[in-house]
Amino acid sequence: MPKAKNTRHFITQDDFTTDEIKEVFAMADIFNDTKSSNTLQDKLIVTLFFENSTRTRSSFEIAAKRLGAKVVNLDLGTSSSSKGESIEDTVANLNAMNPDAIVMRHRTSGLPKSLTRYVNCPIINAGDGKNSHPTQALLDLYTIQEHFRGDIDGKSIAIVGDIKNSRVASSNIKLLPRFGLKLILVAPECFMPMDDEFEKAHQLTDVIDRVDIVMSLRTQIERHSESHYKSLEQYGQDYCITKDIFGDRDVLLLHPGPVNRNIDISDDMLADTRCKVLRQVTNGVAIRMAILLKLLETSG
Ligand code: ASP
Repeated sequence: MPKAKNTRHFITQDDFTTDEIKEVFAMADIFNDTKSSNTLQDKLIVTLFFENSTRTRSSFEIAAKRLGAKVVNLDLGTSSSSKGESIEDTVANLNAMNPDAIVMRHRTSGLPKSLTRYVNCPIINAGDGKNSHPTQALLDLYTIQEHFRGDIDGKSIAIVGDIKNSRVASSNIKLLPRFGLKLILVAPECFMPMDDEFEKAHQLTDVIDRVDIVMSLRTQIERHSESHYKSLEQYGQDYCITKDIFGDRDVLLLHPGPVNRNIDISDDMLADTRCKVLRQVTNGVAIRMAILLKLLETSG
C-alpha cells in the first residue's frame, strides 16, 4: 500500500504538541463564532463506531458537515464484521475506497493505533476501551479555558467517579497537567487508578473547598468484570454531585456525558448555571472541526 506523505493520526492527546493544541483552540474560537465553512468540501470522512455513541458520533458528523465534507457512517449491524471479517481487513478495504479520514471507536484499547498501518489517511480515535478519548479531553480543556478566560495555570480540578475504567479520565489525567492544572482524584478504592502521581481522596466533601473545577464521570459498568455496588443508586448515595456538596461555591461542573441523572449529578445541579455540560457539547463540535481541519490540511 503506498504510504501517503505526512499522514498524521490523532490517537492520543500526546499526538499534538502544546502549541498545536493552542492552535486547535484558536481555530475552535473561530468555528464557535462562524459555525460553517466549506474548507473540506471535496473531502470524504468515514465514521466507524463499534461501540455505542450519541454525542461523539453526531458531533464528528456535524463537525465534518459544517466544514463541507461528506460523511459515510458505516452501519456496523450490516457490515462484514458480522460475517467473520477481521477488523484489519475491514479497515484495509475501507481505506482502498480512498476516504480522507476515518473516525473510529472500539472497545479494545490500542486498536486505533494498531490499525494506522493499514491506512493511508488519518485515523481519529473517538474512544478506545479505557485507554484514550483525546477529542473529549481537548474539548474539556477548551471549556475550562473558556470559562476562566485563559487563566487556568494552577487551578485545581477534582475528577470524581470511575476513574480507573474511564478513557475520558485517562486522557485528561495526561492532558490537563500539561496546561498547569492540579489534579485531585476522588473515587472509592475500587474505582481509583494505581497511579501515585496525584493527590487522592475518597470523598468530594474532603476537597471541595480547594478545587476550582469538578469533573464527574459515569460509572463504566460495561467494563466491570464484577459488580462493586449493589446498584448504581447505592454508588450515587456517596458520589452524586449535589447542591448540598457544592453549596454556593464558585466551582465549574463538567461531565463528558452520558449523565446518569441523580447518580452522577443531581437534577438541580444539572440545571445550575455552574454546570457546563451542554457547553461542552457545543464546544465539542468546534473542537472536532478544528481537529479535522488540522489533520486533513496537513495529510496528503
Ligand atoms: N462518552 C464518554 C466515552 O465514550 C464517557 C462515557 O461513556 O461515560 O468514554
